[in-house]
Amino acid sequence: MTTIHLLGFPRIGARRELKQLQESYWKQDIDEAALLKGARELRQRHWLLQKGAGVELAPVGDFSLYDHVLDAQVLVGALPARFGFDAATLSTAQYFALARGNAHQPALEMTKWFDTNYHYLVPEWQAETTFAANPAPLLAQLREAQALGLKAKPVLLGPLTLLWLGKVKGAAFDRLSLLPALLDCYRELLAALAAAGAEWVQLDEPILALDLPADWLAAFAPSYQALAEAPVKLLLASYFGGVAEHAKLLKALPVAGLHLDLVRAPQQLDAFLADWPADKVLSAGSIDGRNVWRADLSAVLTSLEAAHAQLDERLWLAPSCSLLHCPVDLAQETELDVELKTWLAFAVQKLNELKLLKRGLIDGRDAIAPELAGSDHAQASRRASPRIHRPSVAARLTRLADGSDRRHSPYPQRAAAQRAWLNLPVLPTTTIGSFPQTAEIRAARAAFKRGELDAAGYDSAMQREIELAIRRQEELGLDVLVHGEAERNDMVEYFGEQLSGYAFTQYGWVQSYGSRCVKPPIIYGDVERPQPLTVRWAVYAQSLTTYPVKGMLTGPVTMLQWSFVRDDLPRREVCWQIALALNDEVLDLENAGIRVIQIDEPAYREGLPLKQADWAEYLAWASAAFRLSATGTDDATQIHTHMCYSEFNDILPAIAAMDADVITIETSRSDMELLTAFGDFAYPNEIGPGVYDIHSPRVPSETEIETLLEKALAVIPAERLWVNPDCGLKTRGWPEVEAALANMVAVTRRLRARLAETVA
Ligand code: GLN
Ligand code: ZN
Repeated sequence: MTTIHLLGFPRIGARRELKQLQESYWKQDIDEAALLKGARELRQRHWLLQKGAGVELAPVGDFSLYDHVLDAQVLVGALPARFGFDAATLSTAQYFALARGNAHQPALEMTKWFDTNYHYLVPEWQAETTFAANPAPLLAQLREAQALGLKAKPVLLGPLTLLWLGKVKGAAFDRLSLLPALLDCYRELLAALAAAGAEWVQLDEPILALDLPADWLAAFAPSYQALAEAPVKLLLASYFGGVAEHAKLLKALPVAGLHLDLVRAPQQLDAFLADWPADKVLSAGSIDGRNVWRADLSAVLTSLEAAHAQLDERLWLAPSCSLLHCPVDLAQETELDVELKTWLAFAVQKLNELKLLKRGLIDGRDAIAPELAGSDHAQASRRASPRIHRPSVAARLTRLADGSDRRHSPYPQRAAAQRAWLNLPVLPTTTIGSFPQTAEIRAARAAFKRGELDAAGYDSAMQREIELAIRRQEELGLDVLVHGEAERNDMVEYFGEQLSGYAFTQYGWVQSYGSRCVKPPIIYGDVERPQPLTVRWAVYAQSLTTYPVKGMLTGPVTMLQWSFVRDDLPRREVCWQIALALNDEVLDLENAGIRVIQIDEPAYREGLPLKQADWAEYLAWASAAFRLSATGTDDATQIHTHMCYSEFNDILPAIAAMDADVITIETSRSDMELLTAFGDFAYPNEIGPGVYDIHSPRVPSETEIETLLEKALAVIPAERLWVNPDCGLKTRGWPEVEAALANMVAVTRRLRARLAETVA
């Protein structure tokens, strides 16, 4: 019989119980025993839920107190030597020290898990790194699952993916040289799991969906050969992309099963069905583990019929990837529009979809006729609903003529027009948008939400904050001011709430890292701007000062990237819809006298596809989306963008293609490395490299700022250089912000004087 299994279930809990536990423990409100007990209860709840829903092979090891890549480092006994911890005796406090740092050592570096918004802790590899199997934590969880009467499948990060995800620290060496020792360690882990009664073990190798260097690819066959001796059945899991180009290699591996992501890459199934080995299981990841849409069961059944006829019980059913990236339970959403709700499925609902698919495959469509009718109806209503389709939006997109994403003139002409009215000093100073979200701001927002403060009261509270921000910036002597974003809870939510086509959940949280969860909005329909979004705040701010105030918008790519996006349109089209809605706002701002406008795109690089071959297409539509949002503006209107905390070196031409007049960009943490790249590439427009790392309460000294600015001046002509912090200041407090910005302005003034002397 076809088996239903999961690669992983969300670990945070339907009400973010894990976050409560972690944060209470960190604050010492609860002790270690209470933390571990709470975690155990959470795991058990999730397993029982899966058991009740018909999952026949439940994942073990998908739960984590912080991060599963850190857990993998503990299991193989390879913790960064700088901490001096022993994995075999690691305490809970030490575990969290690795994740969050302690008085002596900074935390492990954190970076994005493939193309998701989850962040993992990066292993640190050195030529001296050794491994020692430490299966105890996983065995304990395996016993917990077994005690509940579940058939359990331990989940491990595959050895090649674990190695790949780590970074070399210290002297350069080839990470692959660690592989033989790591494989010995995995063999021990597998043997221990087998001895504890595991029949199957899942090894996740998502790196198969990347552009792998030849030597890494070549390492798969011998590695899995070495693991094949273990007395367990191995299920090799690929996900986040197609692996058809490796079909021959994967079919020949000595593993008992292979999982494919058939949501991201449905067409790859055929390549695997062709002479699929008679002894292997094929796990079809046909339910979207990355998104919130209800499956089209009829279509999925059709897509699996041939596979089922060929493989019978060797065809397994699963979500495309771990459900970690999906909110937990739609049933909790009591405020969602009822029709919209019929189109959605969160993790719990996806389990039911798997069960239905299995019945449909085995007993035929008639056996699930009412459910299929329900699914068909949901699909049909989604296709036809006026809630989704706004003919005006579609028409506007089709009307877009070639070149309609272009400003009237090229940058040099625009720059001249802007200089003429802005009349800024050389090295103009500005900030990235937000100022500290003070207790007063948060209290006013909360009171407004609770209905204790009326709209007028809330507006005047925000106006007071704006005035405060403007006065402080004037006193500091900044050149281009911002209103401070007091009225914004979140840079995506604030805009999404005011646009059509966006919905917000109450509990649709997904883990971003550690205890941090995000609640991405759901873009379900055509996006339009019913009325101006920010104009009144910007205009109010401008009315208070003679300095130029910079309008502040979240860009189309970031709005897309940080949401659950509808799956019935290409992402490009959704992005362009958002761009046109933002363009309406840009033109209204301009009309209202706001002639400097920043369109933030911190997530611009995040959208890059996993395979380089797909980059050009993405960058073409993403940069077009940005240009569309700024199009039609007068040459004299200065368009800024902002980006942060990402590698930008490899996409500089695509950043230049956005054609913003000014880009402010995070650089201070990378010691201006990025600037060298901007210099080498000869970035054509204006640029403000961040000279103040806002992720720390530390106030940068004048000397530090001066050093950074001098480095910048060495590669960027003074006429095109701006001075600003790395990012928005909303997480900081006013005293440190004022001190840091005062230093920034003081250094800038000195440099200006020096530049004037050299000219004279
Ligand atoms: N304008 C936003 C702010 O200052 C930008 C935030 C971001 O880059 N993530 O808060
Ligand atoms: Zn930023």
